[in-house]
Amino acid sequence: MEKLRLGSTDMEVVPLGLGGIPLQRIEQDEATELIRACLERGINFIDTARGYTVSEGYIGRALKELNYPEVYIASKNMARTAEAFEKEMEESFRQLGLEVIDLYQFHNLRSLDEFEELIGPGGAYDFAKKVQDQGRIRYLGLTTHRVDVLERAIDSGLFATVQFPLNYMERQGEELLKKAKEKGIGVIIMKPFAGGALKYKDLALTYLFHSGASHVIIPGIDSLDQLDMNFKQLARGPLLEEELQLIQEEADELGEHFCRRCGYCLPCTVGIDIPTVFLMEGYYSRYNLQDWAVERYSSFDKKASDCIACGVCESRCPYELPIISMLDKVKGVFGS
Ligand code: SF4
Ligand code: SF4
Repeated sequence: MEKLRLGSTDMEVVPLGLGGIPLQRIEQDEATELIRACLERGINFIDTARGYTVSEGYIGRALKELNYPEVYIASKNMARTAEAFEKEMEESFRQLGLEVIDLYQFHNLRSLDEFEELIGPGGAYDFAKKVQDQGRIRYLGLTTHRVDVLERAIDSGLFATVQFPLNYMERQGEELLKKAKEKGIGVIIMKPFAGGALKYKDLALTYLFHSGASHVIIPGIDSLDQLDMNFKQLARGPLLEEELQLIQEEADELGEHFCRRCGYCLPCTVGIDIPTVFLMEGYYSRYNLQDWAVERYSSFDKKASDCIACGVCESRCPYELPIISMLDKVKGVFGS
């Protein structure tokens, strides 16, 4: 299978990797089998994070059991200061059961201020660099949802890789990612399905494989069917004219104000599961699953109508979504 060098690193990656978020929805045994299937099919890049609860531990135990050669492991944490970063990183080593981690990333930089804190005195960057010099981390990378941070990270020359969302609905980073590739920075694409918001997941992957803006795409999967679909898209040619038209129609329909289910807005002050509430509204309005969506929504303890408009979630959303008014719309759809 074709492999691409991940920027200037020595990692030769298959363009399809595995994202570790959905592993949180399954048990260890299933996760091990899924990872086994991925590795047997040729996937050689797995991305996880301290913040993905059980994901690192599942991957660590699976790697031990499968004892598979030649798989690159990437993890990350959200600490910005040296002290906090060390604690989190040591936990990554422990959970993954590894002595050396191929790629360790600074997770979800939300603003330029955070970026400066990270690389400033007492920041996590200098600390991580020392760990890299000791040989425990092979490469350092950065992940963000913000274009300004992405640009700053690329220009800084401090990172071997960048990880950024890209899909046919969210193309704001596309040109910068191509620039990163030209500069020898490895490009890892997250959110290929916009957090599940996209209707045409097969076409979404095909679009990305032919975008020229990626080295490795890391869709999260929690079933073998999804893995089959992903490989099918990897094997096919670029999108046809009628398929391009379909995704354009969807892009027009969704607009910019849609939830990518990243979860960064949580916890809500009153306990609303914001991304799931938006997901139900999507199922109702766009996927023609009204009865199912109403049933699921009615079982939620906290509904859109419970929002007290405190605004805490909006200040955390990397997409600056008007969550309060979007919840109002959900209330209009479900009546509560
Ligand atoms: S504005 Fe509403 S949804 Fe957002 S945190 Fe406050 S109560 Fe929760
Ligand atoms: S509302 Fe914003 S922060 Fe919350 S899950 Fe959706 S995209 Fe992410």
